[in-house]
Amino acid sequence: MPITQTEEDSVNSPRPAVRRNASPYLYGGEAAAVAQVLESGQYGHSDVTEKFEREVAAYLDVPEVVAVESGTAALHLALLAAGIGNGDEVVVPSLTFAASVQAIVAAGARPRFAEIDPDTLCVTGASVLEALTPDTRAVMPVLYGGRAVDLTDAAPVLAGRGITVVEDAAQAFGSWHGDRKVGAFGASGTLTCFSFGPIKNLTCGQGGAVVPRTSQEAETIRLLRMLGIRQSQADRIRSTTYSVDTFGLRYPMSALNAAIGLTQLVRFEEIEAKRPQLWRTYRDALAGIDGVALVDVDVEHTVPFNCVVRVPNRDAVFADMQARNIGVGVHYPPNHLQAAFAPWHRPLPVTEQTAEEIMSLPFHPAMTEQDVSAVVDALRKAVTR
Ligand SMILES: *Cc1c(COP(=O)(O)O)cnc(C)c1O
Repeated sequence: MPITQTEEDSVNSPRPAVRRNASPYLYGGEAAAVAQVLESGQYGHSDVTEKFEREVAAYLDVPEVVAVESGTAALHLALLAAGIGNGDEVVVPSLTFAASVQAIVAAGARPRFAEIDPDTLCVTGASVLEALTPDTRAVMPVLYGGRAVDLTDAAPVLAGRGITVVEDAAQAFGSWHGDRKVGAFGASGTLTCFSFGPIKNLTCGQGGAVVPRTSQEAETIRLLRMLGIRQSQADRIRSTTYSVDTFGLRYPMSALNAAIGLTQLVRFEEIEAKRPQLWRTYRDALAGIDGVALVDVDVEHTVPFNCVVRVPNRDAVFADMQARNIGVGVHYPPNHLQAAFAPWHRPLPVTEQTAEEIMSLPFHPAMTEQDVSAVVDALRKAVTR
């Protein structure tokens, strides 16, 4: 039986952009920047890395930024720098990438899973306070989808108990919290961690950064990221020795990655415009579909990382979309239900319900309005089947 053009379109989805849930976005100068570093022969932490740190700090309007190998490394080091270790508990939402939780475990601490607001998929002041125990030493809000998390109502209790806030802002580079950029809250006692992984708002290929609260903390994180060695590479090659001052890991950001990030940062304004625009296009296109609820990202203040909907019969809709070659995803299977984190399981009914309903639509800056229409047409068919 011959199938019509529209049937064929929706079944085979000829639009390449919608096959991917997420994708790096290159501006064009990245390959040349990497080639230049390759030819320089300096591939480790170098002055290119330090230039990237200064440029990110200038972008955020903060005194200092410490670049590291990944977002996960940034979280691990931020926790260590805050003095989190054995026996300490860190409050974290269960609905996050496993990296947040593994960073806590890597620091020797225990995750204490917190509930989320089903409307934002983020923790709230109240859900954080509910999760506190006498062992809580830190709270790790996750800025899901790039949306800032406001813990103002819990702040007096957290400060009173000496609890540090370490933000997982892996998805939130470029977003705003009120009139200040996410990452610009060091003076208020928050440590912020970014990821510059392949699909993040700004990519270094791989990379991450910590925004420290003080210059002393910046120094601690620099020591921790380079095996506890204080001397710079340049000093080391001119000396017969070096000193290992403290415990340390090997988490530097390669100059190859920093070069990619520097190229991206110059044109980041384009992403600051494109991502919110893409999210709004989805919002308008989804408005007419019964049963599909868009998770709000506070697009006025956010550079959205993704576009998440709640749908009935999610698993069936997901399979249908996949069969139509639409790159849907689920972010995330809850961590409190993972085998690795079983020792810290506790019932989280809102998270469990939410995790069965959410689905992430294809979302990356190369997508056009036509791509969004193709995704939304497919979704309309999938939910009404
Ligand atoms: C990407 C991500 C991380 C980890 O960052 P990497 O650079 O991949 O190590 C951590 N938390 C969240 C919420 C993320 O999205």
